[in-house]
Amino acid sequence: MKRRDFFRALGAVGVIPASAAQEASRRTAGLPPLTIREVKVIATSGGARYRWVFVKILTSEPGLYGIGSASNHFQTHAVMAALERHAAPYLVGKNPDRIEDLWQAMHLRTYWRNGPVNNNVVSAVDMALWDIKGKRAGMPVYELLGGKVRDAVPCYDHAGGNDRESAVESVQRSMANGYRYIRVQLGPYGGGGFIPAGQGSRPEGGHAGPAFDEELYVETIPKLFDYVRAKVGFEPKLCHDVHSHLTGMNAVEFSRRMQPYQMFFVEDVLPPEQIAWYKHIRQVTTTPQAVGELFTHPFEYLPLITDRLIDFVRCRVSAVGGITQAKKIATLCEVFGVKTAFQEGGDNDPVNQLAAYHVDISSPAFGIQEENHFPDSVREMMPGMGEIRKGYLYGSDKPGLGIDIDERLAAKYPLQPITDGSPYPLDRTLDGALVKP
Ligand code: MG
Repeated sequence: MKRRDFFRALGAVGVIPASAAQEASRRTAGLPPLTIREVKVIATSGGARYRWVFVKILTSEPGLYGIGSASNHFQTHAVMAALERHAAPYLVGKNPDRIEDLWQAMHLRTYWRNGPVNNNVVSAVDMALWDIKGKRAGMPVYELLGGKVRDAVPCYDHAGGNDRESAVESVQRSMANGYRYIRVQLGPYGGGGFIPAGQGSRPEGGHAGPAFDEELYVETIPKLFDYVRAKVGFEPKLCHDVHSHLTGMNAVEFSRRMQPYQMFFVEDVLPPEQIAWYKHIRQVTTTPQAVGELFTHPFEYLPLITDRLIDFVRCRVSAVGGITQAKKIATLCEVFGVKTAFQEGGDNDPVNQLAAYHVDISSPAFGIQEENHFPDSVREMMPGMGEIRKGYLYGSDKPGLGIDIDERLAAKYPLQPITDGSPYPLDRTLDGALVKP
């Protein structure tokens, strides 16, 4: 290597981060302490069906702001009101550098804590504060969390179909797109366990739609995976989401019957109210368990992790308290040999996806990340959003979270009116009783 090239190479690895740090200290030298000037709430449909709520925290330093995700598809306006009327007045004037202290204060400020709405609020503020700190440091958030421990974040794809043949074709498409980890469903959540509309023995004048039946589900889904494994072999790592549709011993029996198909995991075989059953599952099968996209309170995941009753914790970052809490959960998982599989899903947004990314890529306890794809309207509205290529999620590597929001475009896509109260769609059994989602 020529002498000039050698020093150029040195500059590429050494001088640029140093100058970024110098730039950060130059920009802040002699300035009064940083304060939060304004907390903006930005709600948007993203030009699609979304009900996204973002927070934008502006600081006393011109041009320095952070964004966070508070999206809650089912209580959208409650989260917006909590941010606008309670969180914003509390935060203005405070020091955004004190992330942990503000997290604790935001968590305790409501007196009653760990509820989903305030967790969304705390999460959004937390993400925005990490975004601000990263921008000040001139570093991506994952650098502040300890740096990369992997090169990119593996994601699992969503595959499925209404019959076993189309499910196999869908799995093969995922494999062709470069995915190693693939979730396979038979139609909608609970699919494989539905007695068709109008069929079966039903009460007079009662529920007429498709009716969920646990034993039918336990019978059908293992046969689906028997077929899928016969067609695609054992190379792809397969998952399946039960979406809390089973109770007690049926969840145990389902997990046992899935063992021959060497699942990467089965997800939420039980609702969060029934976590005590996991110790019974552990006694009869090694089928890995992924649990907890509905968890909001540490007491829900704490015993499952510390007793090693599950293999993956599935929390949504914006539902448990943002980057600060997700990093703590990941560290707890690391100590007990459990892994993370942070939840995404169709209603989630690109800011939350990147918040998960920064924890995923810097955490030894990482197991897998759920994928999430967005339409072109969102890519235009949110420059810097993550990209999934051949089964891996990549961040932008820009300082902070690495993503921005075009407020003009967000305003062009306002929230659609909610006329039905926005309930989560609930299934029922033949006799008309609700099934836990
Ligand atoms: Mg799920």
